[in-house]
Amino acid sequence: MFLDSLLGLISKDLGIDLGTANTLVCARGEGIILSEPSVVAVRKGTNKVLMNGEAVGEKARQMLGRCPGSIEAIRPMKNGVIADFEITEAMLSYFIRKAHGRSRFIHPRVIVAVPSGITTVEKRAVINSAERAGAREVRLIREPMAAAIGVGLPVTEPRGSMVVDIGGGTAEVAVISLSDIVQSSSLRGAGDQMNEAIVKHMKDVYNLQIGEPTAEKVKIEIGSAYPLEEELQKEVRGMDTLAGLPRTVTVRSEEIREALRDPLEMLVRSIKSTLEHTPPELAADLIETGITLAGGGALLRGIDRMLARETGLPVRRAEDPLTAVARGTGVVLDQLETLWPILEDGRESA
Ligand code: ADP
Ligand code: MG
Repeated sequence: MFLDSLLGLISKDLGIDLGTANTLVCARGEGIILSEPSVVAVRKGTNKVLMNGEAVGEKARQMLGRCPGSIEAIRPMKNGVIADFEITEAMLSYFIRKAHGRSRFIHPRVIVAVPSGITTVEKRAVINSAERAGAREVRLIREPMAAAIGVGLPVTEPRGSMVVDIGGGTAEVAVISLSDIVQSSSLRGAGDQMNEAIVKHMKDVYNLQIGEPTAEKVKIEIGSAYPLEEELQKEVRGMDTLAGLPRTVTVRSEEIREALRDPLEMLVRSIKSTLEHTPPELAADLIETGITLAGGGALLRGIDRMLARETGLPVRRAEDPLTAVARGTGVVLDQLETLWPILEDGRESA
């Protein structure tokens, strides 16, 4: 323990939000020091990361949908599970090295926030990857727990609070009390599914083929889950599938809202079923504590009002929802000596 504290002073302990869309790294005492898309560029067919990891993160994201035949930009965590272990490991190791920077001799302790639905095998894979990337010791924390801590919910109290973390590949719904997750569900494809719904809408209605990055822009700029005071519109460029030529069309926020209905309904169903399975005393608490939204999807216009209407509970959007999980790992890092023993080491089969 003494040696650990000493090493803690000279090494930089890290908290990592290994998200399906974005990876954030928090350093003890420093806050968030890295935030990049969870994207890796590889040579097609080989799974070999391009240029020694130069093509990881933001640079690789810019290649999505724009690669020549021999290169592929991959999101290895796309569906909230580790779709590709090797590439995930390469990515994690690039981010850890970039964040830690200092001496290769002093290894950091690392906390990784993982989706609550992750399997034991995937947990081991994350831990092994982080260790191979230079971590001295690795512990895991469930994403919704980290998000709840990050937004300052009273997680240690005997009182129910609900977090809905809407990411790219997954949405995590969890009821937390006494530092534990009492009830949870993990929905595949959250923000990504919204993008896909927009791609489909443009194709069905306008015969316009667009890529996912364009669909995401449409979602962010004019997407909504609830009628807007002032409806919006946006010009969208894509490929006319009939004429075989590039074309521009103007889309309205009303039609995009309609296109987003299915993925949003799935989210509502997932929240309702979690509520149904929550013990009554804790469910009753939620009438007061309500639902807190985190993750990038929380930024969708009107999603708070729509969920309030659907659940009858108060809903609030966390401040800076994209960084909630990473900030949560930062809070844990600050109390590392006391909290370390209770964090998951991936050995016990959960
Ligand atoms: P993950 O934890 O899975 O990495 P994030 O919490 O980083 O995901 O959120 C990424 C998701 O949030 C993406 O699907 C992105 O399109 C979406 N997103 C980001 N900003 C907005 C916005 N303003 N409106 C709607 N969705 C958004
Ligand atoms: Mg996340």
